[in-house]
Amino acid sequence: MAILQQFGPTRSHPFMPTASAPGELSAAARKYGVKPMPSLEWNAQVERETAHLYDRVQAVIPPVEWPFFAPYVKAINTLKKERGAVILAHNYQTPEIYNCVADFVGDSLQLAVEVTKTKAPIIVQAGVHFMAETSKILNPDKTVLIPDVRAGCSLASSIIGEDVRLLRDKFPGVPIVAYVNTSADVKAEVDICCTSANAVQVVESLGADTVIFLPDQYLANYVASQTKVRIISWKGACEVHERFTADELEKYRADDPSVQIIAHPECPPDVLEAADYTGSTKGMIDWVRKNKPKRVVMVTECSMADNVKAELPDVEFVKPCNLCPHMKRITLPKILDSLVYMKEEVVIDPMIAEKARRSVERMIHLKM
Ligand code: SF4
Repeated sequence: MAILQQFGPTRSHPFMPTASAPGELSAAARKYGVKPMPSLEWNAQVERETAHLYDRVQAVIPPVEWPFFAPYVKAINTLKKERGAVILAHNYQTPEIYNCVADFVGDSLQLAVEVTKTKAPIIVQAGVHFMAETSKILNPDKTVLIPDVRAGCSLASSIIGEDVRLLRDKFPGVPIVAYVNTSADVKAEVDICCTSANAVQVVESLGADTVIFLPDQYLANYVASQTKVRIISWKGACEVHERFTADELEKYRADDPSVQIIAHPECPPDVLEAADYTGSTKGMIDWVRKNKPKRVVMVTECSMADNVKAELPDVEFVKPCNLCPHMKRITLPKILDSLVYMKEEVVIDPMIAEKARRSVERMIHLKM
């Protein structure tokens, strides 16, 4: 069924991260103390102690680069244990983070579920700001750190809570679903959250004829194509996925008719039509694991192909390399700084966090 109506940002919303004030010692630094910066020397001992981790990434990180990464990997893993911290890494993080220092990896849904199970008092989010906020929403008593507070997201910054209230006034009684790629302020105003992995099921779980789905217009479009529920959408877009075009995919097919093309539903509709499979990042990874194609084009953020390649070196990945500039703000040196100085601590107004928690938990507890 076609999308009923579209609304969109009437003004630009500057990205306003919630964190301790810049330059100030965070409450977490006062609570846990600042540690000395570990040695970052590359030597035979570091080489020996990180060899098993290099084995995991040797298909995607050349040997000449490992002496730069390895001292950080060793220092982070040592400090992480001393602090009792865990590192959560999204599928779009670079291979040395994803494979060598992360305790949990996955898409937004997997990370949101994992974070409810951890007993660790400190969570370092290797991902973007809305993900760190989600971790804090679900763990209000824990310390959540993001290595670079400027790691935003074009979807999350396309809408604020006030926009949601205006939509509710305009469509009284129509339930509102928010993609997790939104700020805590937006999550606090909606009925339930969803991820790209469960968006259709979440929409259908509401039992309504019409649902407002925000902020990604392309994911909304995809959901509308999979359900009879009428969708009212918001005109937000992921700046990485909206750059892909059907023309570029057709060129890959013309070069090699046997190539498999798999795409994320944040892509425009003509791109999804040109793909052999559409799914969330987890869905795409599972698809490659199951089908083990000879050559595959992963139409999503570029680092994910590297992470799957590290696991499946025999699959050839054709990479239309669109990188997310926000995800790429997270690096090993910044993760180490986070653990040394306990920064940047994510803080959310407790009233907003409480309301937002209801929307996220309603999604997590949905029986699907
Ligand atoms: S890839 Fe797109 S949706 Fe994901 S964080 Fe970057 S801008 Fe946001």
